[in-house]
Amino acid sequence: AIEFAGVSKWYGNFRVLRNVSLTIPTGGRVVLCGPSGSGKSTLIRCINQLETYQEGKILVDGTQVDSKLKAIDSVRREVGMVFQSFALFPHLTIIENCMLAPIHVRKMSGRDARAVAMEHLEKVRIENQADKYPTQLSGGQQQRAAIARALCMRPKIMLFDEPTSALDPEMVKEVLDTMVALAADGMTMICVTHEMGFARRVADRVIFMDSGEIVESAPPGEFFDTPRNSRTKAFLGQIL
Ligand code: ATP
Ligand code: MG
Repeated sequence: AIEFAGVSKWYGNFRVLRNVSLTIPTGGRVVLCGPSGSGKSTLIRCINQLETYQEGKILVDGTQVDSKLKAIDSVRREVGMVFQSFALFPHLTIIENCMLAPIHVRKMSGRDARAVAMEHLEKVRIENQADKYPTQLSGGQQQRAAIARALCMRPKIMLFDEPTSALDPEMVKEVLDTMVALAADGMTMICVTHEMGFARRVADRVIFMDSGEIVESAPPGEFFDTPRNSRTKAFLGQIL
């Protein structure tokens, strides 16, 4: 589970998160949307301390995550993250990308790491690309490789930050399908995305952020059919 209790963050005088409170139970699937600059990336990056915050509390499976936490590495091991830019290591093959953290962080043997990597590459259906370098893959394949790499650490939580927005339209579906399969496996997920079809199908809660605050949070049916806040309505009017 992930819990935000009254979290605020400032960059200098600029308040980027405003009193964010949010609970995502284990197995919960949240889609986070909102205008550019509303704080979506900042919110999810606070979960694994890629960003610090100044006020409130964040708990990941009961462990308070803040700048004083010595055990941040143990939280990061449990929380996989996938970015808009695939962030694969260009000088390593796909399978080497997948084996790196399990060997160095989880202390797995090369043999075990290879087996786990192949298992996940099969799951995202790019096992035949294992020995290629990232630039030899399509964007959709690279993003699926990035997802497989995250899964090789056996995370309990997956954070996605606009995983399909850098992709050509014909590759979006293959990445979303991978995420749908993950959700069906019971993964706890927060996905920043404007893929509203995905939100309807997969999310159990859709959250709309604006100017650093959660403006609306509802199950997808309610969120799309009867949004309450005027800012949510205006936003949906623009993107749907
Ligand atoms: P997008 O949809 O464009 O990705 P976002 O909702 O993810 O936007 P954030 O990246 O979380 O938005 O940024 C929220 C706000 O914080 C923006 O106004 C941004 O300019 C500001 N911001 C982000 N990083 C910094 C920084 N390092 N220093 C100062 N301001 C920052
Ligand atoms: Mg962002």
